Amino acid sequence: MPPRLYAKRTRNLYDPSSDEPFRLSRTKIDLFHECPRCFYLDVRLGIPRPSFPAFSLNNAVDELMKREFDTHRAKGEPHPLMKAYKIDAVPLRDERMEEWRDAFRRGIQYHHEATGFIFRGGVDDIWVAPDGALHVVDYKATSKKDEVTIEGYWQQGYKRQVEIYQWLLRGIGEKVSPIAYFVYVNGKSDEPAFDGKLEFDVKVIPYEGDTAWIEPLIEKLVACLKSDTVPDKNEACEHCRYREIAGKELLEKMRGKKKTSQKSLGI
Ligand code: SF4
Repeated sequence: MPPRLYAKRTRNLYDPSSDEPFRLSRTKIDLFHECPRCFYLDVRLGIPRPSFPAFSLNNAVDELMKREFDTHRAKGEPHPLMKAYKIDAVPLRDERMEEWRDAFRRGIQYHHEATGFIFRGGVDDIWVAPDGALHVVDYKATSKKDEVTIEGYWQQGYKRQVEIYQWLLRGIGEKVSPIAYFVYVNGKSDEPAFDGKLEFDVKVIPYEGDTAWIEPLIEKLVACLKSDTVPDKNEACEHCRYREIAGKELLEKMRGKKKTSQKSLGI
C-alpha cells in the first residue's frame, strides 16, 4: 500500500466557540509538555507532525505481554515475575479493563470539571494490591547491550506517561498507589545466531510517580488552546527553523524573486 500523503486534519480540532466537552489524549498532553506550538498547530489548526512507521515489533511484544498477564488475571493469581520481584499484588480483574486498555478510542476517561475537558489515556495493565490500591503498569520493549534503566532521556517521557495514568485514575475516583511498574523487556542481540527467534531479558522496575506537575500544566494547556495567539517556537528546535527557512525561501520563489515557477516547486 502506498504511504498516506500528509494532509491537514479537519476533524477533532478544538473549537473555542463549542460547548461540547473536548477530548484530549495522553499523547496530546505530552505533546504540549514538549512544545506548546506543535500542540497548537495540531489541536487548533489541524497540522500534526508528520507520521512515521509504527514500531511493529514493540507492539507485538506488548500484545504478547498482555496475553500472558491475562492468563494470570483470569486465575486471580500473580504472574511469576511479580512473585520473583516480591510484589504483593495481582493483575486487576475488572470489567472496565478492556475499556481502560483501549488507547485509540476510549482508555481511562476523566471528565475534568475545572476545565470541562475530557482527558483520556489507555494503560497497558493495572495490578491491584491487597488494600485495593491500583498500580499502573507499563510494558516497554527495547534492545540494548546495557542493562535497562528508567534514567535516560526517553525514559523521562515514560515516567510522565505513568504519572498521567495515575492522575486519570485518581480523577475518576480510584484509589491509586504512587508506585507504578515498568515491565521492561530487552531483546538480546549477543546470541550466537538468530534462528528465527529473539530472546529477551525481562526486568520489573518500580517507580514512585509524582503527579503534582499535571494540574498546572493542564491549566496552561487549556489557556493555550483557548487563545488565538500561536505559542512561540522552541528556539532549540531545528525542525521549526528548517520549516521557517524553507517556507520563506519557497514564498520568495513563488513571488517570482528568483524566477522559479510554482509548478517546479510543487506548490
Ligand atoms: S519548535 Fe519544534 S517542536 Fe515546536 S512547533 Fe516548532 S517544530 Fe514543533
